[in-house]
Amino acid sequence: MTAPTGPILVLGTTSSGKLRELRRILEPLGIVCRALADMPGAVDVDETGATFAANAALKAAAQARACRAWVLAEDSGLCVAALGGAPGIRSARFAGEPRDDAANNRLLLERLADATDRTAHYACHAALANPAGAIVATSHGECHGVITAAPAGTGGFGYDPLFVVPEYHRTFGTLPGTVKDLISHRARAIRAISDDLLRHLRPAASSLPPTGR
Ligand code: IMP
Repeated sequence: MTAPTGPILVLGTTSSGKLRELRRILEPLGIVCRALADMPGAVDVDETGATFAANAALKAAAQARACRAWVLAEDSGLCVAALGGAPGIRSARFAGEPRDDAANNRLLLERLADATDRTAHYACHAALANPAGAIVATSHGECHGVITAAPAGTGGFGYDPLFVVPEYHRTFGTLPGTVKDLISHRARAIRAISDDLLRHLRPAASSLPPTGR
């Protein structure tokens, strides 16, 4: 007997780090995920929005129309208090083109050399688009921390070697992915949209009656 499945969900990102985390969070829910790389119709989308939310919606709608599939996209970044919220939506390209995590991290440490306030937060906005390209659900999540003085660890991606999580007194770079998945901005945004994901992508599962009498 085959297990009941719903339609596939395309993960609307070209970042291998994001893709890994999204799969880790979504696949245990029974959602069948595909990468953009596996979708012949996928397009390049310019992130021209002025906010995380606008960019997430832009990416989800454009890829959904192009792939004729359900698409979950997210836009995320690091917001540093001493830098007035920068790099924010420019996080991926903080140090310029082409996007380079090591260069971004070096620039961040340089900009914070004299800062006394090193608090920061990651933000993630997610958007779910149906195959017609209409946004049917959105969500967001944040994760607050502090920027350390020197990189530690090789886990995660992006700014993770510099981002200290107060709960653990360690950077995301040194923490296992399973821990990041409990508290990250991305995990929080996905948890907040998971009811909508299940309703649209696992209709059989979401209509199951509760267990017990
Ligand atoms: P986007 O592709 O425009 O959403 O860019 C996201 C950028 O924000 C990444 O390239 C990273 O620089 C940064 N970022 C977002 N989430 C994370 C994270 O979980 N860890 C480390 N860096 C992140």
